Amino acid sequence: MAASPLSGAAGWESRREARWHRHGERLGAVLPLPSVLIAGVLACHRSAECLARGQTLYRPRVSSRATVACPGCGGPFPNIVGPIHSYVPSSPGCWNTLGEVQADEIRRFGYDPAHGLVVDAYMAQHPGDGTDRRDRQSVFVHLIGLCVRLEQHTSYHLVPDLFQRVLQQRSDFPVLSRSHGPGLLTVVHMVGASDSPEYERRAREWGNAVWESWSGEHERIRRALHATTQTP
Ligand SMILES: [Zn+2]
Repeated sequence: MAASPLSGAAGWESRREARWHRHGERLGAVLPLPSVLIAGVLACHRSAECLARGQTLYRPRVSSRATVACPGCGGPFPNIVGPIHSYVPSSPGCWNTLGEVQADEIRRFGYDPAHGLVVDAYMAQHPGDGTDRRDRQSVFVHLIGLCVRLEQHTSYHLVPDLFQRVLQQRSDFPVLSRSHGPGLLTVVHMVGASDSPEYERRAREWGNAVWESWSGEHERIRRALHATTQTP
């Protein structure tokens, strides 16, 4: 078995590579497939097998097989030229994959209840260095989102109002420290969900992995959330 460009750098990376390939296998059953994800399949450590299957079904828009590690989530994504968010550090390939996942979500499921959880997971998994206030705010607020959705099971209808209250009550946000690596799952985990319940299940798995990677900040986030909800 050929080693992937990132395998062996760290234990979690090699495990994630294996998971990445399992997603690639599932992708073949889902039509239509965002072209960028084909490049993700080609990047896996059994790429020759995937290529043989993929070429019979799809014509990738991304021609290069080269991948780069996303600076936020660490996942290998196609080395494409494209837009990125101004203060959410990600590779163009990773950012593009999020866009593809959300477009596919809206097309197939409408505004899915898991939509916000996907956004929270992605943003919390792509923190900046904290020098930009918008970056600090983004990580803080989206960790609040993960906390209320995953621990308190707050209805997704109520989360936007909660975010608004957090923003109204704070003029600045602390620099938070991620306890571990970015986690075993990335936005690729969301690719190929067969229906809305599976999409939500995957979003919860990804969200829990991201939330756990910030375990050292859990109490701070819970206290902030408690203060917000206790303030009239
Ligand atoms: Zn990423």
